[in-house]
Amino acid sequence: MLRFFNTLTGKKQAFKPIKKSEVGMYTCGPTVYDYAHIGNYRTFLFEDILRRYLKYKGYKVTQVMNLTDVDDKIIKKCDEQKIGLKEFTEKYTKAFFEDLDALNIQRAEYYPRATEFIARMVEITNMLLKKRIAYKTEDGIYYKITRFKKYGKLSKVEVKSLEAGASGRMRTDEYAKENVQDFALWKYWTKEDGEVFWETELGKGRPGWHIECSAMSTHFLGEQFDIHTGGVDNMFPHHENEIAQSEAAFGKKFVNYWLHSEHLLVEGQKMSKSLGNFYTLRGLLAKGYHGQTIRYALMSAHYKQKLNFSFMSLDSSKNAIERLKEFVRRLDVAEGKQNPKITKITDKAKKNFEKAMDDDLEISKALAAVFELVNKVNKEIDKNGLNIDDSLELKKTMNEFDSVLGLGLLEKEELDEEIIKLAAQREEARKQKEFAKADRIREEIKKKGYIIDDTDKGPVLKRA
Ligand code: AMP
Ligand code: ZN
Repeated sequence: MLRFFNTLTGKKQAFKPIKKSEVGMYTCGPTVYDYAHIGNYRTFLFEDILRRYLKYKGYKVTQVMNLTDVDDKIIKKCDEQKIGLKEFTEKYTKAFFEDLDALNIQRAEYYPRATEFIARMVEITNMLLKKRIAYKTEDGIYYKITRFKKYGKLSKVEVKSLEAGASGRMRTDEYAKENVQDFALWKYWTKEDGEVFWETELGKGRPGWHIECSAMSTHFLGEQFDIHTGGVDNMFPHHENEIAQSEAAFGKKFVNYWLHSEHLLVEGQKMSKSLGNFYTLRGLLAKGYHGQTIRYALMSAHYKQKLNFSFMSLDSSKNAIERLKEFVRRLDVAEGKQNPKITKITDKAKKNFEKAMDDDLEISKALAAVFELVNKVNKEIDKNGLNIDDSLELKKTMNEFDSVLGLGLLEKEELDEEIIKLAAQREEARKQKEFAKADRIREEIKKKGYIIDDTDKGPVLKRA
């Protein structure tokens, strides 16, 4: 039975979606104002594993991930760099999708951009104004949190601090728990906003960050849906405010299960530019680490634990993947009689894998089940070889595991970038008729475990 730790109730609960076999899931996406860092990808990978496991369990998943392409931070950066909003955010949106591919993160069904849903934000703000839950001031339209009795139910912000702060208002999108205050739904234009504004019936201005997610989630998934996720930093004020907006406007429970992932630390410390331990995904790729290795390092701890990222963890991830791939390669040799132990080992591994994942996505236990299978089957192959039917069964099982892990274990081997570069250098040397050099490079490639076949369509690289 699949169970999740639900932040809303503070308990692990059996997962029961609204529709029997379909799941609606909203995941707060990136603010596209910079290249996303590995902390962001820790969260996006947790969400990818969640999505993949729901599909493994047979659910039809509709996932929506928004792209925050207008907010305080973006406007500030556009102003600093004297660049238009659209041009600025497109650059980082494109980079984001490239990163998703590098990490083999499955695409969500929808990636709405906030700037394309202004009308819906206006509509919800109007509903809140009509209900006198929102009010107008000289600088914008605010949400009156004392009008929503359940305010604080997600993040458990204290009612005491709520009362103390409730007289004030917060125009900025992000603020600390000590500042429980009315927040902006619509911000009237100021000259700092420059070209960024919409002329709407609410006045000339732009939306607050929180209303963006209430608008986009309910547009695609309905006024009530199953799962909402994000990193812990999103819990307050962002998600608390999303609940307040949506439930007050639509008069029903907004989301049934809230899942929050813990933050990533680097070598035991908070990742920050000033500490010099800040890494974007592309930074790591440029250092020569493979996307799969980074994926493994960022996803292999339980999502509710702080994940300590280190270069050592990348090395051990690389080894772990290599062991899995080596195992899958071994399955290609098939001979002899069927071994009844193989089915037993496979069944047990599957049971343990599912038991672990069913228990709030205990990924490290699930991985342990996979490695147990690898170790045991390796011993069996050493002793008895491997029969074709056993091999097929094992491949099928590894494929099922990998539909969740996303490591591309059964895909064709990708060639090492370094080898590709060397092959190109050799081709160039041949073209220049520097044959001694070309031969030297061929030898170097051979030492790395590849051979080059010169065909009439050009050179082809193969594993030796
Ligand atoms: P942002 O682009 O800042 O809105 O963040 C996108 C997602 O990444 C959100 O779900 C955040 O909660 C999450 N996030 C931000 N920083 C970290 C971090 N250091 N570790 C894990 N997740 C993070
Ligand atoms: Zn959001």
